[in-house]
Amino acid sequence: MYHVLRTKQKQYFYSGTTRPEEFRLHQLDKLRKAIKQNENRVLHALKLDLNKSKEEAFTTEIGILYSEITHMEASLKEWMKPKKVKTPASHTGSKSYVIHEPRGSVLIIAPWNYPFQLAMAPLIGAIAAGNCAVVKPSELTPHTSAVITEILGETFSEDYIAVVEGAVETSTELLKEPFDYIFFTGSVGVGKIVMEAAAKHLTPHTLELGGKSPAVVHQDAKLDLAAKRIAWGKFLNAGQTCIAPDYVLVDEQVKDEFLEKLEKHINDLYKKPWKKGKYPRIVSEKHFDRLVDFIEGESVLVGGQYKREELALSPTVLSGVSLESPVMQDEIFGPILPILTYSSTAEAQARIRELPNPLALYVFTENKEVESQFVDELSFGGGCVNDTIMHVANPYLPFGGAGPSGIGSYHGYDSFLTFSHRKGMVKQTTSFDLPIRYKQGPVTHKLI
Ligand code: NAD
Repeated sequence: MYHVLRTKQKQYFYSGTTRPEEFRLHQLDKLRKAIKQNENRVLHALKLDLNKSKEEAFTTEIGILYSEITHMEASLKEWMKPKKVKTPASHTGSKSYVIHEPRGSVLIIAPWNYPFQLAMAPLIGAIAAGNCAVVKPSELTPHTSAVITEILGETFSEDYIAVVEGAVETSTELLKEPFDYIFFTGSVGVGKIVMEAAAKHLTPHTLELGGKSPAVVHQDAKLDLAAKRIAWGKFLNAGQTCIAPDYVLVDEQVKDEFLEKLEKHINDLYKKPWKKGKYPRIVSEKHFDRLVDFIEGESVLVGGQYKREELALSPTVLSGVSLESPVMQDEIFGPILPILTYSSTAEAQARIRELPNPLALYVFTENKEVESQFVDELSFGGGCVNDTIMHVANPYLPFGGAGPSGIGSYHGYDSFLTFSHRKGMVKQTTSFDLPIRYKQGPVTHKLI
C-alpha cells in the first residue's frame, strides 16, 4: 500500500540530493522557520488534544526542538567528517576511517503524549543524517497530527519527507514495507510488534519505550527540594510523560515529612490550574477509566478528584501502596503517584530490581555512596541525581531505555549516529604490496 511512497523516497535518496551538508543545514533551517511560523497553530492543536497550557506546551513540545536544531547545526560539519582511526602494523601502507552513511528512507512512528515533539525530534535527527523520512503521528491526538501534516506538507516534497496519518491499520501497513530504518516511540507491547515486523526485513530499529521509573528519596535528601522536583516532574502533562517518576520509594524515617512537603508543592504548582480547568487532560476515555480504577481501594492522600466529562483527573498521591497493588503492575502514565517506603537502601534496590529495567531513575541524596548504589548498580535508561526529567532536555546526553524500556538512543549526536550507518573503510596503498599477507599457513596474531 505504501510501496509507491517508499519507492519514490528511495529514488530521491539515490539521486544524492539529501547527502551534502549544505542541503541538510538548509532543510533544518526550513523546518525551524516552518515551526516558528506555525507556533500558534501547534499550541492551539495541543490545547484541543490534551488541554496543554501555552507555557507548558511551548517548553516541552516546541522549545526543545529549537535547541535540538541549533545543536545539530553547530555540530554537523564535524560529525559528518570521516573519522580517522588507527591502523595496525599488519596493514602497513593503508589508512582506516569510518564514514557516516545516511540510512535511506526511514519510518518514524510517534505516540500521543508529546505528539508534536516526539514526531519532530527524531525527524530532526533523520534530516541531519541525510535521510528521507515517513512520519506516522498518533491517531489519538488528531488536531496535532493534522498540523504536523500541514507543516511538513507545506515545507517538504513527499519524496523527501512525508506524513501518513492513521491508526493501527496504517501503522501495520507501513511496517510491511522494507524501510531502511524504523524509529518507534510508544508502549512496550507495540514495541514488540514493531520489532517483529522489523525482523521480517531485518530492518535496523530504535525502540523508545516506557516502564515504571522510580524516584528514590533517601533519609539525608533535601526533602523540600526533592518534594518540589518530584511534584513538578510527575504531574507535568498530567503524568503522561514516559520519564515521569512512576512511583516514589522513600526512606520510612522521613516519609511523613516528605509527604507533607509533597502535598504543599503539588498545591503550589498545580492546584490553581486544576481548579481553573487549565490542567492537561487524559488523552481518551479508555485511558481515563483505567487510571480511575487504579485509585479504587487505595488510600488517597492528595487529590483523587475527577471530572469524566472533561477527562480531567487531579494530581493524586496514594500512600501505603504495596508491590502487589494493581497500580504497581504496569506503567501508570497519568497523574497518580504511589508512595512506597523502604528501611534500607538494599531493600529499595531489591524492590526496583523486581520490576523490568526502567526508562528513568531519580535518586535524591547528599551521600555519594548511596548515589552510587542506585546510579551505578542498577540498570535503567537515564536519569538524574536530585532532580527529575531534566536529562531529557540536554542535547549532549543520549536518551533511550535499557532492556525492556527500549533499544537504542537519540538526541544530539546520538540522533545523528542512530540515523547513520557507520561504514568501516580501509584505503590501501598501491605503491607496494607486502608479501607476508599472502603467506599460507596458520594465521598468526600479527596478521589479525
Ligand atoms: P502506543 O504504543 O499505543 O502507540 C504508539 C504508536 O504506535 C502510535 O502511532 C500508534 O498508532 C502505533 N500503534 C499502536 N498500536 C499499534 C500496532 N498494533 N501496530 C503498529 N502500530 C501501532 O503508545 P502510546 O499510547 O501512543 O504512548 C504511550 C507509551 O509510549 C507509554 O508506554 C510511554 O512510556 C511510551 N513513550 C515512550 C517515550 C520514550 O521516549 N521512550 C516517549 C513517549 C512515550
